[in-house]
Amino acid sequence: MDNARDRITQEIVEAEDLKLLAAVDTYGYQCPGCQTQAFPRSYRPENLVRAHFQLRDPHVSGCEVEGETKVIAQGKRGSVQQELETSPGLSPARLQLIEDRTIVDPALPHTESQTQSVRRSDGATGLVRREGRRAANSIRPICRAFLRFPFDRHLSLAIPGIAPTTYQTAFKKLRSKELEPCPNARVFYGELAWTPAAESPEHLTISLNAGEWEEKKLTPYQAVVLWREWSAAAGAGD
Ligand SMILES: [Zn+2]
Repeated sequence: MDNARDRITQEIVEAEDLKLLAAVDTYGYQCPGCQTQAFPRSYRPENLVRAHFQLRDPHVSGCEVEGETKVIAQGKRGSVQQELETSPGLSPARLQLIEDRTIVDPALPHTESQTQSVRRSDGATGLVRREGRRAANSIRPICRAFLRFPFDRHLSLAIPGIAPTTYQTAFKKLRSKELEPCPNARVFYGELAWTPAAESPEHLTISLNAGEWEEKKLTPYQAVVLWREWSAAAGAGD
């Protein structure tokens, strides 16, 4: 699984974001759908396999997260709009960045104000009732939804600073024909070049395999990451 729910704060946590934490509580996570314990795997920066969560026990029967695997497979071949509308995590409706994670004393009783996304579970089965499309706290789940569901890019998407309001229009692929001006903010994307990224204390420069070809030489689009202001945790990646 790509994400799990923090047992204490009840927030949905992306496995990739565990790399930003100073310490990871191996026993601190559960399936967002059925509360079965979920174990973080491959979350250290040196791990080559993508970070994920793994269950040792099966999902509770009827768990919606278990059903998501089927939806993802179907989404490659056609629209699964109805499923995405009632599945909180598969196709986020908006980007809502959080600067600081809520730190909660596990000894305190939980209140609604301590939790970002309040769980509404059925006391008898432990199954979480279906919610609508939720917000994502990083761009990653949004990019994943864009790639996974090519037939559902008409669904709404709100990203601060970007005017278009659907997946289709908020994303823009950079072409290989020429360098064109891009005056409006979009989520630009393109294949990475084979050349390694160039690092300096101020920024990281990543070349793309798109741009302008002239006499078999490419002037590429480049993504420049200004990382001088980053926190130590984000920069070190652990
Ligand atoms: Zn589950």
